[in-house]
Amino acid sequence: MKTAELLIKRSQNKCELCQSGESLKVYTVLPEPGGSLDADIYICDKCQAQIDKKEELDSSHWSCLSESMWSEVPGVQVVSWRMLNRLKQESWAMDNLDMMYLPDEVLVYDLDRHKAHCLNQTAALVWNLCDGRATPRDIASRLQRELDQPFNEDLVWLALRQLSKIHLLEGSFVWPAQPAGVSRREMVRRMGIAAAVSVPLITSIVSPTAVQALTCFPGGHACSTDVQCCSHNCLGSFTCHS
Ligand SMILES: [Zn+2]
Repeated sequence: MKTAELLIKRSQNKCELCQSGESLKVYTVLPEPGGSLDADIYICDKCQAQIDKKEELDSSHWSCLSESMWSEVPGVQVVSWRMLNRLKQESWAMDNLDMMYLPDEVLVYDLDRHKAHCLNQTAALVWNLCDGRATPRDIASRLQRELDQPFNEDLVWLALRQLSKIHLLEGSFVWPAQPAGVSRREMVRRMGIAAAVSVPLITSIVSPTAVQALTCFPGGHACSTDVQCCSHNCLGSFTCHS
């Protein structure tokens, strides 16, 4: 399947930011050599125009960010975070930023992929405790002691899934059938907002050098405008002409 088709499936044909079903396009958040789906999002014209500063920022449009910031798609997380930052003067945006960003973050740099990942305290602790021997239950009870607050196995699995997505775990896992569908948002709902500090969160950033090295996309890469492609030809299916 092509990128655009995969994105339509992932987004259920709705804007991944505001849920609108109109004029949707693939938007590349983090140009990546090799092109991973995580870096592309599927959004509407209205969102894109404001992201690209082609239209004035309409803060009422962006109340959708308080939903989209919980997305597990890294590209959606990154754009939500950037837009919340642009709307920082609004108290609701600041409140949401506070929930996304927590003290004791750890920055991990992936040399192979030129990517930096920001792990919050919980995600970093889970990562540190992954020694290939400790079970998720062991890790949960260690964390409960270290953080001095209730911490269950579901949260550990959630962190593990995020860590594995960004290639920070070695080896393969047998994922449990059940908590697989538990999102960060669901966790916060279950634990109450005050406990949100212990929800694992990872934000990925492509390093500036990787972005500089890649000035245009090769043929076959997802694109949203002609200028992104080395061929200067973004085909109708949102892939660069070779
Ligand atoms: Zn939108």
